[in-house]
Amino acid sequence: MLRNSKTRLSHTALALLLAGGLAVQARPAAVVPTLRYTLAMPAPQTHYFEVKMELGGFPADYTDVKMPVWAPGSYLVREYSKNVEGFQARTAAGQPLAVEKINKNTWRVRHAKQANFQVSYRVYAFELTVRTSFIDADHGYLNGTSVFMYPADNKMLGSTVVVQPAAGWAQVSTALRPGTGKFTYKAASYDELADSPMEIGNQKVLEFTANGTPHQVAMFGTYNADDAKLTADMKKVCEEAQRVVGQNPLDHYLFIVHNLERGGGGLEHLYSTTLEVGRGTYGTEAGYKSFLGLAAHEYFHLWNVKRIRPVALGPFDYDKENYTHMLWVSEGITTYYSKLINLRVGNTAREDFLNGLANDITSVENTPGNRVQSAAESSFDAWIKSYRQNENSRNSEINYYAKGDLIGTILDLNIAEATKGEKHLDDVFRLLYDTYYKKASRGFTDMEFQDAVAKVAGRRYDDLFQNSVYGTKQLPYATALGYAGLTLTTTPLSTDGTLGATFSNKTGKLLVTGVVRDRSAWNTGLSVNDEVLLINGAAPSEETVKSLMSGPVGSEVKLQVRRDGLNRDITLKMMSNPDLKYQIQPMANPTAAQQRVLAKWLGATK
Ligand SMILES: [Zn+2]
Repeated sequence: MLRNSKTRLSHTALALLLAGGLAVQARPAAVVPTLRYTLAMPAPQTHYFEVKMELGGFPADYTDVKMPVWAPGSYLVREYSKNVEGFQARTAAGQPLAVEKINKNTWRVRHAKQANFQVSYRVYAFELTVRTSFIDADHGYLNGTSVFMYPADNKMLGSTVVVQPAAGWAQVSTALRPGTGKFTYKAASYDELADSPMEIGNQKVLEFTANGTPHQVAMFGTYNADDAKLTADMKKVCEEAQRVVGQNPLDHYLFIVHNLERGGGGLEHLYSTTLEVGRGTYGTEAGYKSFLGLAAHEYFHLWNVKRIRPVALGPFDYDKENYTHMLWVSEGITTYYSKLINLRVGNTAREDFLNGLANDITSVENTPGNRVQSAAESSFDAWIKSYRQNENSRNSEINYYAKGDLIGTILDLNIAEATKGEKHLDDVFRLLYDTYYKKASRGFTDMEFQDAVAKVAGRRYDDLFQNSVYGTKQLPYATALGYAGLTLTTTPLSTDGTLGATFSNKTGKLLVTGVVRDRSAWNTGLSVNDEVLLINGAAPSEETVKSLMSGPVGSEVKLQVRRDGLNRDITLKMMSNPDLKYQIQPMANPTAAQQRVLAKWLGATK
């Protein structure tokens, strides 16, 4: 302790020496840098946001202004600066300043030291996803990372943001705290600005409280939900999610919901989320449940990834990929909790939960990539693989959402078993929240996550992690489910033979769309994009196309295909289908110990 404070003193003395030349003398009062953004949208139908940044007090004779290349939560370099136009810089008096673009996303502005100056630019915004920005005559939506630039060396600088909505627009929905003046907000840092999306227009805003905390739901677009029921159900989900960690980091929260013709997906933020759904989704039971599942997933991210996070995921480097082996924790276990939360509030029946789990195991185990890529590798390579899928992805990759969901299940069951039904995965997240978010203010390493599981369970799972998280060995499903008095059985998914290829005739041509590793089509040399001209000598018909999907094991199928403008004949043989269907059933006479584990895992009652 003493040693640390001495070191700090000597640093201060050195700084004074450097600032004042060789003589130690009083420094001139430091000018605190200031930053103010104005966001305008005078012609929304042209799909442009206009941004003005007023900067002052920056110490050097130039400032580098940057646009992020990616948005936290979506692990792909998206090059947001590709949409920037008309970058200019001027003195406070309006005189042009020299600007040099020094790389793809950085503009160097030369100015007098500590002088006030301003930067302005336009952003083309015509990509309506949760990860990008969009504006048209109806509304504007933005992610901070794709619209707001930042002074490179001052990411921690707080700012004021003034929004000037387009004519006729009366609402701005954002989790940023209000400042002084209409549509004026305060961001504590660039990280907060970047992580506070905005919906601007005439959206309907619903409200509810969850354990006393105000929540808003900004609904863009027409939709077919009963508002009272929707907010009551969202309240239940949010309150249950708050119980997992047992500590609520919020004093307010915002859901932005885009109700579109088609949609699916969400992106988590510090105090908000954006969800994109089909506008008819609330009209069916399955659609309504999937909406609540999505809401639970994004809301649980408030803890898992926004605050309980791998070390690499904050503070963010907006300039390049931020690598972690643990997206299976951040995304997969969040998916697991979205299901548990909906089970705990009664939106999902226990039987449906278990059937869903069996289907998830079936899906993961029948993905050839599950035997090629580990959950840790899938996480690390998200930037170049998961977010850049191609026709071979199923053969070479496993999705870290699906696999992480199953790893979470296995860990949860193991912890409940090791502690005789006293603890579960919730306790790991409570420990991580206290230890790393609250006390250490940082993320955890791979080993620290494993240590947290060990601490809660009272035993280590090094082999499990090594084999089935960092390796591709099958997860010990049956053993773990056995702890809870459940059996896992398998039956062949189909007794028919298969070629191991998928086809589509959407374009009017019958095309090969997928070839499965180690199946007949793979071994024989059928390729994606081959156009099937003849099936056993005849033009494809509904009947013969069906015969490509399955048939007696050992039977032959002769295809004539067109590839690169040339015809070729390929003879394929139906192989037996190795895919399995997994099912979960309760044991007839579970022991008291098994019943305790089951009760801890899924709750005391059915
Ligand atoms: Zn997620």
